[in-house]
Amino acid sequence: MSELKLCQGPSCHTYKTKDRLKGMKDNKTYQTRRRSNLLFDEFCSMTCYNDWFNEYGTRAIDHFGRTTEVKHLTEKNAWQKTYDWNTTGNTVYVYRNGITKEERPLTREQYKDNNYTLNIS
Ligand SMILES: [Zn+2]
Repeated sequence: MSELKLCQGPSCHTYKTKDRLKGMKDNKTYQTRRRSNLLFDEFCSMTCYNDWFNEYGTRAIDHFGRTTEVKHLTEKNAWQKTYDWNTTGNTVYVYRNGITKEERPLTREQYKDNNYTLNIS
C-alpha cells in the first residue's frame, strides 16, 4: 500500500466536498485531502496549487532567486534533453541544441539524472 500524503493547499480543508468530510458520526469535520498521488507531488487539485502559489509564490521566488535580468538563448545554453522513437519503436534519448539542431546521444540513465549535463565549453 502506498503512503498517503497531505495536500499542501493552505485552504484545502475549507472546500466542502463529501470526500473531505471525515471523522466519527457526530464529530465530522472537513479535512485536508490525503492522496497517494498528488499534482506536482504536493497538491490534490489545481485549485489547491493556485491557492498555494497565491499565498506563497512571491516569497518562494524571492527565496530561491528572482530573475532580474533578461536571459538570452544562445548556442551555448540551448542544449536540452529530449527523446524520440527510432524506426523500430525504441526510445532514443538525446541532448539537442535548440539553435544549431546538433544532437548528442544520451543513455536513459543520463536523461533521467537531473544532475547530468554535457560539459560543453
Ligand atoms: Zn487540496
